[in-house]
Amino acid sequence: MKTKSSRRTFLKNSAIAGATYLVGPPAFRGSLRGSVIVIGAGAFGGWSALDLLQTGRKVTLLDAWGPGNSRASSGGETRVIRATYGAQGIYTTMVARALHLWQENERRWNLKLFFRTGVLWMAGTDDSYERAALPLMKEAGIRFERLSTADCAERWPQINFEGVSWSIYEPDSGYLAARRSCEAVLNAFLKQGGEYRQAQTTPGPIKANRMQGIGITSSEILNADSYVFACGPWLGKVFPILAPSITPTRQEVLFFGTAAGDLRFTEAELPVWIDGRRRFYGIPGNHWRGFKIADDARGPAIDPTTMERRVSDEALTEARTYLRLRFPGLAGAPLVEGRVCQYENSPDQNFILDRHPEAENVWIVGGGSGHGFKHGPVMGEMVANAVLGLKAPPREMSLGRLLERNSG
Ligand SMILES: Cc1cc2nc3c(=O)[nH]c(=O)nc-3n(C[C@H](O)[C@H](O)[C@H](O)COP(=O)(O)OP(=O)(O)OC[C@H]3O[C@@H](n4cnc5c(N)ncnc54)[C@H](O)[C@@H]3O)c2cc1C
Repeated sequence: MKTKSSRRTFLKNSAIAGATYLVGPPAFRGSLRGSVIVIGAGAFGGWSALDLLQTGRKVTLLDAWGPGNSRASSGGETRVIRATYGAQGIYTTMVARALHLWQENERRWNLKLFFRTGVLWMAGTDDSYERAALPLMKEAGIRFERLSTADCAERWPQINFEGVSWSIYEPDSGYLAARRSCEAVLNAFLKQGGEYRQAQTTPGPIKANRMQGIGITSSEILNADSYVFACGPWLGKVFPILAPSITPTRQEVLFFGTAAGDLRFTEAELPVWIDGRRRFYGIPGNHWRGFKIADDARGPAIDPTTMERRVSDEALTEARTYLRLRFPGLAGAPLVEGRVCQYENSPDQNFILDRHPEAENVWIVGGGSGHGFKHGPVMGEMVANAVLGLKAPPREMSLGRLLERNSG
């Protein structure tokens, strides 16, 4: 059983590690050999496995249901990539790197995964979030335009800008194909010699500060030098110590049908849009699926394994009310598809990337909190650097901050 004092020791150690760049006990430091098992092939685990493989390690990737499966947070059609992040400069900097990495890998794999539609972020009366974002975007080298409501109304007459004070337009941002990207990462991993198995994983016993193997289906035990658990919304089930730190919440995504031949609500004429004040966002007609709209507000807590994924009447009513206001041309549009997914929220919406408090050979990656997908390739780099002891993960992602909160 975890004692409070050993947690304190861990917190103290992780604070020290966060202050330096080279981390890890001597056994790890600079070790470029050895084997790693990555559990979870979503946006975080898939990229981590690929990046670790590229450092010359032997890597096995495991997933209970497959990369971007219908239960995973990385499942679904599309995810927004945008750099407007309020005062959270770390994520703006990561987006700048992510935009580069997504496009570099797209070219390498000869696949279309990133769609540069531009992103329009609408500010409300309280525009402190948006004002804080601008200098950080400039510093990170992200191109943006600050647009008045009159400018916006002229450019996108299909949007009613009532209640919008001004907007940020990011011309180089857009959206990513989600499930297809997970599959592309797996294919690249396999092509470069990685091993993938579809299997449910249980952490093994921890002795002398190291995990002694992991259990997979059919009572088989697998061993490696290091383990990376990237189990998304399941992290709290896999490690009960994390249960208070990861809350999976029900999120609904709706697709509305536009009039035949009407291009106004497709990416030919509309960017990805985010209504910062009202928390709704949307992606115009990717692969002819219709106009995607979602409410970013956190839904009720759920179990990602057993949740019935049927769109609720409440979500449909709220989306219709919003459409009537902001996209009057879609007021009568029929629902053509719906998806129910989940966010895996950390209490402060920051990600997690840190060692297990009791096992120095185990790393925990997650807490995407509704904004993790775009950062997959950057998290992959960070995980590889952390596992190899080359660079400490950012302080914002420490487990200590969460465990301290839980024990307090
Ligand atoms: C509706 C919705 C909209 C979103 N919109 C955006 C957006 O616009 N932009 C953005 O950047 N992000 C967005 N996100 C967030 C983003 O999708 C997630 O943060 C990200 O995909 C999380 O990736 P992950 O790898 O941590 O988790 P997951 O994708 O859930 O991957 C975890 C994997 O672990 C596997 N697993 C779990 N337990 C075990 C076990 N015991 N053994 C073996 N395998 C196991 C699962 O099968 C799963 O495949 C959105 C999320 C949702 C749900």
